[in-house]
Amino acid sequence: MRTKYAAGNWKMNMTFEEGQILFSEVTNMVKDEVVNPNVKVVMGVPAPYLSSFSKLINTDKVSIAAQNCYPKASGAYTGEVSVPMLKSAGVEYVIIGHSERREYFNETDQFIAEKVDAILAEGLTPIFCCGETLGQREEGIHFDFVKGQLTNSLFHLDADAVQKVVIAYEPIWAIGTGVTASSEQAQEMHKVLRDHLASKYGQEVADNISILYGGSVKAGNAPELFSQPDIDGGLVGGASLDSRGFTDIAKSF
Ligand code: PEP
Repeated sequence: MRTKYAAGNWKMNMTFEEGQILFSEVTNMVKDEVVNPNVKVVMGVPAPYLSSFSKLINTDKVSIAAQNCYPKASGAYTGEVSVPMLKSAGVEYVIIGHSERREYFNETDQFIAEKVDAILAEGLTPIFCCGETLGQREEGIHFDFVKGQLTNSLFHLDADAVQKVVIAYEPIWAIGTGVTASSEQAQEMHKVLRDHLASKYGQEVADNISILYGGSVKAGNAPELFSQPDIDGGLVGGASLDSRGFTDIAKSF
């Protein structure tokens, strides 16, 4: 049985005080309410809050994620944050390859592959984001494009390592737009990606890899999306900033 995820990506939102309240509310709700025991709730918070918020976790159903990392362990890289630093701050997951980082910070598949290696080397879990633009979908090249992102950033891993990666399929046209991929569109891509993983690693390995959907997930659409056979939960941006709504997403399995 694959682990299911409700993973939040706060992006560059929330002051320290606001974030503390939100983080505590979610951890308390997830602890006290009925959430499927196979669901992991992950909150991707701004880097300066990681160490402090990780100490607020009061249930093993909740983990904290960083939204980025630098692939080198230490050194003269002013302003960057390494994976050993994240680990020492209590971080278990690292979101990488988000389309915003690919677009605004020119992150390439190769650079993201280096981050994957750095995260796995420290025993943390990468949440590897991929997804096509609307133009690519309209051109009909979306399947090949997203498969290529997996090939370029993950296929250097051996079978043992690749099973430690969580994949988040996030069509760029659905991120922060209020437009959600239909459950059929999302399931179709997730199946294509799982088949792609199976073609390289075999079906058993592919069946062990959690693939999340991201793009305007809300409590209202989560149950239908998460009921699809190849969708193992969501990476949630906007709706993760509301404790009640995000907890309800976590209860949608
Ligand atoms: C995201 O940023 O990963 C995301 C999916 O955002 P939203 O849920 O707001 O579309």
